[in-house]
Amino acid sequence: MKVDYGFREIGGLKYLYFPQIEELGWVVHAFTTRVGGVSPFPANALNLSYLRGDSKENVQLNRQRLLQALGIGDCPLVTLNQFHTDRVIIQGSRIAAEEPSGDALITDQPGIILAIQVADCAPILVIDRRNRVIAAVHAGWRGTAQRIVIKTLNTMKSHFGTMPADCRLAVGPTIDRCCYEVGKEVITLYKKNLPSWKDFLFLGSSDEGYLSLAKANIQQMREIGVAPEQILSADLCTSCHGELFFSHRGECGTTGRMMALVMMKQVKTQ
Ligand SMILES: [Zn+2]
Repeated sequence: MKVDYGFREIGGLKYLYFPQIEELGWVVHAFTTRVGGVSPFPANALNLSYLRGDSKENVQLNRQRLLQALGIGDCPLVTLNQFHTDRVIIQGSRIAAEEPSGDALITDQPGIILAIQVADCAPILVIDRRNRVIAAVHAGWRGTAQRIVIKTLNTMKSHFGTMPADCRLAVGPTIDRCCYEVGKEVITLYKKNLPSWKDFLFLGSSDEGYLSLAKANIQQMREIGVAPEQILSADLCTSCHGELFFSHRGECGTTGRMMALVMMKQVKTQ
């Protein structure tokens, strides 16, 4: 795993990126922060999700600002109705009027922005460097327990011939063990579903545990055959860095959502 990321600020809007993804040359990506928007969480917040406590106009303006900052203001943005499952959606060239329901998006189509929305859950981007297929994954504790990242890679394999060894993956800011206390339900499920749970779930003195979503997902990436040097991680806890990130846990549920987005650039033909 490599911890190598940067922050970029454009017109007051701040996002995190990985140089090793930018250097590919054909991918646009970003993990947004809370900085540089118009939403009231508490002020000037870059909330990118339609949720209670913010107006539709604010979210639209924030999304527009983000895409313009990234130079992809003309491209369609595909988001999901996320519901903490292991459901993987393949996005073709046709954009549906309604948001599909699921927690991972895959496409082989250039010019379409895949985005997932988070505030503590792990945002993961996948890039198949050989076949030029990309994915965005929402991995909270439920999705992680259902191995959503492995299911995404398997779906990429069955539909597009993706081999995990050809993929570069990035885990964005997510809540870490320092701030993520979990209860009996989570501990029981992890012990049952994930044999190597001791590597990322740390038991406390009583009934509680402390979960590292990043570690759990990185373990799954390695298990399926992604090379360690192709796994990038921001290694930043959303709850510890409240000035930069929305944290559902850290702010007791009343907060905005960030986005992790990825798009393949369109190849210009003569
Ligand atoms: Zn923390």
